[in-house]
Amino acid sequence: MGTKLLRMAFLSIHSSPLGQMGTKDTGGMSTYLLGLSRALGEEGHSVDIFSRGSGKKGSFVQDISPGMRLITLNDGLGPLAKEDLFWHTENIAALLLDFTEVSRSEYDLIFSHYWLSGCVGRVLSNKMKLPHLVMFHTLGQAKNENCPAENEPAQRLLEEEALAFGSDLVVTAAHSEKERVARYYKLDPEKIAVIPCGIDRNLFKPVARKSARDKLALSGEKIILSVGRIEPVKGLDLLVRAAALLPAEDKIRLVIAGGDSSGESRVAELKELAAGAGFSGMLTFTGSIDHNRLPLYYSAANVTVISSAYESFGMVALESPACGTPVVAGPVGIIPELLDPDHPDTLGCLVGSRDPVDWAAAIRKTYMRSDQISATDITARLAPYNWDASAEKLIDLVRKKFNL
Ligand code: UDP
Repeated sequence: MGTKLLRMAFLSIHSSPLGQMGTKDTGGMSTYLLGLSRALGEEGHSVDIFSRGSGKKGSFVQDISPGMRLITLNDGLGPLAKEDLFWHTENIAALLLDFTEVSRSEYDLIFSHYWLSGCVGRVLSNKMKLPHLVMFHTLGQAKNENCPAENEPAQRLLEEEALAFGSDLVVTAAHSEKERVARYYKLDPEKIAVIPCGIDRNLFKPVARKSARDKLALSGEKIILSVGRIEPVKGLDLLVRAAALLPAEDKIRLVIAGGDSSGESRVAELKELAAGAGFSGMLTFTGSIDHNRLPLYYSAANVTVISSAYESFGMVALESPACGTPVVAGPVGIIPELLDPDHPDTLGCLVGSRDPVDWAAAIRKTYMRSDQISATDITARLAPYNWDASAEKLIDLVRKKFNL
């Protein structure tokens, strides 16, 4: 096994990791790319993250942190819908190859994020004769199975299957996702690695609840929080239905953070649903919140609810406890590894069903506890989730597997 420092090309074609988080196409994947790349850079490795841009033709290089650059490949076609990017695979791969030739950049491996990047990475790995790692972040088949409203196209499902077979290594962030990939594609578990997400404990740390509420001007006795993109798979209808079952005397405020103008009709539907279900508390949609301000929201809340029908990891399940606030969540992504379903757990409560009655009971039980998670518990339980450990795991793995 070698010890040389590695040069890696990460592909994040459809979404820039510097995009506004919580909007349509920008969420946990950006946190993953930035956290992992920063830690790799600090170890002396180098990561170039490639993304497609809609600016004037040409490539644009930004230094983000030591060892990490963002390279935006502008094809000159202006904004393109995510659904259409697949048809530009060859063109984007050609731009990337041009960039490597002109700038004389060399790499030891290609690590593609999301299926669209996987398609570009497949072309490149064939041409450049480099190992190809793929991380799907979410799987179309899993979204359709767990939330038919997502209606992911057949093209995506086919490509994900082809990439699972054709790539050299599939990376997932949670064991539940590794099992899913193995089951869907009958893959040898040896071909699937788990590299978990980390949590930036310098950013995500508790703020006194009262002070966080004052800073955000949020009133209400009990604050229930949801953080994420406004997408059907996030199960916000279940959350609203559950919140409507909570007694009026609890004086709750449901704060739904995340989303952009693309989710406006969904927000209107959720407001209508709340009114129809007799929700008696206060309801706030904040739109997308700057990542650096989220600790205030988590700290202001009594409970954070992850009502998603499917998550491949679920960063929020780390971010909220890191700020002292317990979560209520279903058995998705990292949750079964994080929360103990059989014992009372300070980090939160796992709900097995999709019945709003069960969710309301779990949410109420959790906010009635009202105290923040102890600092000792936060440190002990979140210790395994740190970007340095994830970076080290990735490097060990690729050195062994590809003899780098
Ligand atoms: N996020 C944010 N601002 C928002 C909403 C979300 O910064 O308004 C971030 C959040 O902190 C988390 C990520 O987006 O790091 C969402 O990740 P998660 O794994 O929960 O969901 P995904 O977006 O991957 O489906």
